[in-house]
Amino acid sequence: MNQVVNTKEETLQKIWLSSPHMGGNEQHYVAQAFEQNWIAPLGPNVTGFESDLEQYLGRDSKVAVVSSGTAALHLALILLGIKAGDEVLCQSLTFAASANPIAYQGATPIFIDSEPGTLNISPEFLEIAIKDRLARGKKPKAIVAVHLYGMPYDVEAIHQIALKYDIPVIEDSAEALGSTYKGQACGTFGDFSVLSFNGNKIITTSGGGALVTRSLEHKRQAVFLATQARDPAPHYQHSTIGYNYRMSNISAGIGRGQMEVLDDHVAKRRAMHCFYKNIFKDWMGVRLLQEPTQEYFSNHWLSVLELDTDLPGFDPESLRIHLEKQHIESRPLWKPMHLQPVFKDAPFYGDGTSEKAFSRCLCLPSGSNLGTQERNRIATSLEFFLEEVNLKS
Ligand SMILES: *Cc1c(COP(=O)(O)O)cnc(C)c1O
Repeated sequence: MNQVVNTKEETLQKIWLSSPHMGGNEQHYVAQAFEQNWIAPLGPNVTGFESDLEQYLGRDSKVAVVSSGTAALHLALILLGIKAGDEVLCQSLTFAASANPIAYQGATPIFIDSEPGTLNISPEFLEIAIKDRLARGKKPKAIVAVHLYGMPYDVEAIHQIALKYDIPVIEDSAEALGSTYKGQACGTFGDFSVLSFNGNKIITTSGGGALVTRSLEHKRQAVFLATQARDPAPHYQHSTIGYNYRMSNISAGIGRGQMEVLDDHVAKRRAMHCFYKNIFKDWMGVRLLQEPTQEYFSNHWLSVLELDTDLPGFDPESLRIHLEKQHIESRPLWKPMHLQPVFKDAPFYGDGTSEKAFSRCLCLPSGSNLGTQERNRIATSLEFFLEEVNLKS
């Protein structure tokens, strides 16, 4: 064994940004799959999980569960007929998975800046981009809009523009299951919508995603493509390129158990947001990303802190390192896609809002499983940092 000096700090349990939180019944559904030897893809948990999600989302949604949110995004692009050479408008401030499937199809992402309020896709720059692309002779084939960190984008404005120019919307709701806009569930606004059940999302299947469609026919097409596109023939015949994207019956069993605690997880994430609001209310130079009006209801998957970086030593990276020393994980904002080396040649429309947010914001531990002890450690650590820069108002 290595020689380790066992200081008190080293025995501290790590506080994660967002970790899996099981409800208890997941094992029941998984055990059932084992008992029935229903281990292979498809089966009662898959259809059960799909109908749970369809009921939760409402609005006659049709859901196909797949291996990841990224796979769901890819299927949405394929079903919209997006091909090599096409252009797809995409929110720049997001996780790379929102944009990567555009490249899988050989299409070009056109990145759009954020609006200051929600940090999501800016209606203003979206329309500027559409007009400019049209003037250049190419009509964009789709809009990828993201409810970042659970905060709904400006649904009304974005979908009005989409309607005006007749461009379909792929709603990336990977971080926003449980969020609503004007009382309607996120995941029901797009022509296609995407959910993710990756390990750190609000509910998890240990890895998985879903494509939400508005018609049974689109769901059928998605399932067909996700299961290798087999024509109806006893021999293996294929007329289109297929994918191996379907969710397994085991993963779906975890998902069914997680659906039982989804609302509880949303309530707990929102409680974490209130916890931070209380900490920061007496300090200058700090602001939590908040719902702009009562029409927005965020699941607050992650609570996002904005720091006034004009003050010396008062920047997100210094705070991140400070928290890390206390074994508390935090994370910078997603680095905007138009600043990523891999997308350096992609066009961008904006005024620097997402870049500014990237340099000023930090995502704080937001898990639904953080107890009083963890919260006390977080509060102490944050207050120490704030006191150090001596900002008490
Ligand atoms: C997690 C995530 C995805 C991708 O989901 P996976 O299930 O990890 O493939 C897509 N978009 C956003 C915004 C995400 O946060």
